[in-house]
Amino acid sequence: MVVFMRKTKQTLGLIFSFLFLTALSAQSQTPVDKFGQLKVSATNIVSEKGDTVQLAGMSLFWSQWIGKYYNKHCIEWLATDWKCSVVRAAMAVNHQGYATNPRKELKKVEKVIDAAIDQGIYVVVDFHEHAAENFLDEAKTFFSHIAQKYGSYPNIIYEIYNEPLKVSWSETIKPYSEAVIAAIREHDPDNIIVCGTPNWSQNVDEASLDPINGKNIAYTLHFYAGTHKEWLIEKAEVAIENGLCLFVTEYGTTDANGDGPVYADETRMWWDWMDKHHISHCNWSVADKEESSAALIKRAPKRGKWKEHHIKPSGKMVKEELLRKHREMFGE
Ligand code: MG
Repeated sequence: MVVFMRKTKQTLGLIFSFLFLTALSAQSQTPVDKFGQLKVSATNIVSEKGDTVQLAGMSLFWSQWIGKYYNKHCIEWLATDWKCSVVRAAMAVNHQGYATNPRKELKKVEKVIDAAIDQGIYVVVDFHEHAAENFLDEAKTFFSHIAQKYGSYPNIIYEIYNEPLKVSWSETIKPYSEAVIAAIREHDPDNIIVCGTPNWSQNVDEASLDPINGKNIAYTLHFYAGTHKEWLIEKAEVAIENGLCLFVTEYGTTDANGDGPVYADETRMWWDWMDKHHISHCNWSVADKEESSAALIKRAPKRGKWKEHHIKPSGKMVKEELLRKHREMFGE
């Protein structure tokens, strides 16, 4: 009887340990654990296993102006409390950015990348510039370094040109992109590279008529819900029909200048549309600037741990959507 009891106890102990460990591992599964090395397959981003993936998260603000949120505690908070599966480091180039202070700005970006790797989330490394063709050497040096140092991590997504202005895709942006892609591919054969498109990354239809030859290439679409309506969705649908994989690396719930009202209905229309096409997105922005697109109130703590009163209306609405996307992704 004693032997029997002891055996039963041992068995029960084993069963409980198994259940506990299973629960623990399910709970601690990160987006990168779940999806691994991402790829572009036709018009979608897919996981290592080939399942369609839609990432959702936050973009930081221009690194040289509001660099205080470029730290590991803030990224940890965005991953754990806001449930971001992706964050975007918007490294300024002009206006006292990387072109003037390369080491200082690079250091901020690397802090964000290291923290994203620790948290098991994806990170968009953005060359935040409106005339990147004038900074081709800087872009090649920067992305070559990032690819060499981090190209073996599945976390990295390269965004090589934030928002080109009204310049030609085929004459200006495409040659720039091909040169930067070549610099990245010398060190990293596979991670996704997102290319900017004409007119503040709206004319994805123009890019779709003359796409880049190469694997794992996506194209940037940006929108601000108060300014960009159905007409921009129509352009995007042309691009998708022509076979492009789109990534909304930046969007706002406000007017295109980053301020004005928060357009809840219009933002929801865009979220629905992005869900329909499995398009990944990052919201502009993690900042305490006095403008309505900034998620935080003035002087919100730089190390995360924000309470409700630190978060402005746009941030609250976006956070709720991020939690919903996370539940959808992990079925929790
Ligand atoms: Mg790689």
